[in-house]
Amino acid sequence: MKILVLNCGSSSLKYQLFDMENESVLAKGICEKIGMEGSFNKHEAAGEEVKTVVDLENHSVAVKFVLDALMNEKTGVIKNVSEISAVGHRVVHGGEDLYESVIIDEKVKKLIDQCSDLAPLHNPPNLIGINACEAIMPNTPQVAVFDTAFHHTMPKMAYLYALPYKYYQDYKVRKYGFHGTSHRYVAGRAAEILGKKPEDLKIITCHLGNGASICAVKGGKSVDTSMGFTPLEGLMMGTRSGDLDPAAVLYIMEKENLSPKETGNILNKQSGVLGVAGIGKSDFRDIENAVAEGVVNAGLSLEMFDYRVAKYVGEYAAAMNGVDAIVFTAGIGENSAARRTAICSYLEYLGLKVDGNKNNTRGKEIIFSTDDSAVKAIIIPTNEELVIARDTLELVKK
Ligand code: ADP
Repeated sequence: MKILVLNCGSSSLKYQLFDMENESVLAKGICEKIGMEGSFNKHEAAGEEVKTVVDLENHSVAVKFVLDALMNEKTGVIKNVSEISAVGHRVVHGGEDLYESVIIDEKVKKLIDQCSDLAPLHNPPNLIGINACEAIMPNTPQVAVFDTAFHHTMPKMAYLYALPYKYYQDYKVRKYGFHGTSHRYVAGRAAEILGKKPEDLKIITCHLGNGASICAVKGGKSVDTSMGFTPLEGLMMGTRSGDLDPAAVLYIMEKENLSPKETGNILNKQSGVLGVAGIGKSDFRDIENAVAEGVVNAGLSLEMFDYRVAKYVGEYAAAMNGVDAIVFTAGIGENSAARRTAICSYLEYLGLKVDGNKNNTRGKEIIFSTDDSAVKAIIIPTNEELVIARDTLELVKK
């Protein structure tokens, strides 16, 4: 059975076509700058990548282009669209009502639309992608897999903010958490790698990418996570501030006469390591290079990043009354030995001991703590697309 996984962003569309017989990726790619000047597609199949500059005026056109790329003589891997048995969509926000992967119908689409208020940058393009597929493949089942769903198991004391309760009742203001598909995948893999049942483990998963979040996974379930009502809460990130005193925000708004929109832009797009390092870049490779060149604030931004990750690990070890394993994933977590070393140096009190040689690894699964370490530290490359494909298969098989 072949399953197409789609991840529609505001101006991009990422895709992977899986053969679920052996969970192999037959083709994958990305359409970028959809609706803008200079839109293009990068398509990879059988180890070859083809870049095509093409006018993709909207997501519907992009979906059509992708299907053609999957079917055409040169880059194709299927003959007919009917070979695609189902489409799995990454949807960012499921709110309180959509807390597990579901087959998409009119009711589900309405609920996704209702969550657009909570994720205005993400849910609308997700929905556009769903509608585009529906129009082109009306008889192919479609499944939605939500970034928020894994965190549905958080207890109320963890997800509520200490605000007047009516804001939760009236507007559903609460912690939802994101990156759930990634946390779920790496926590599951960690249990497999350790040869233990998820029920018997307390795991802290650190998804450290451009967006970054941490999750406390107890007995296989998310019991707390660092992102909140939006992805802005929690860790310091590439361009997001993460946690700070809300009064500081109000103060700056007054001082600089800023609107909520302008303020949101500063907190989401101009803060984090970008804001502190002051080199006009948020990519951690650039920041680490700037440190080597002696840019003081670049070093400071990384110290702040590491410190905050370590503090969250401590917080979640307390929340779970212990921790068996700490997992590092996503761009920084999988690739930066320097960040892992710095973060783990705060965690010796937990009995965590890093094996320097094993830590010198990039992008592949490895337990990089020493054999006698009380807490295991593991690198696990994330694979959200595979989770989406598996969930989709599971639902359409029923
Ligand atoms: P997202 O999906 O949120 O865009 P990724 O998980 O792809 O993020 O991670 C992107 C981040 O990973 C970037 O900040 C990038 O610099 C960082 N990264 C990738 N490779 C390395 C590396 N070798 N060393 C340090 N950081 C890295």
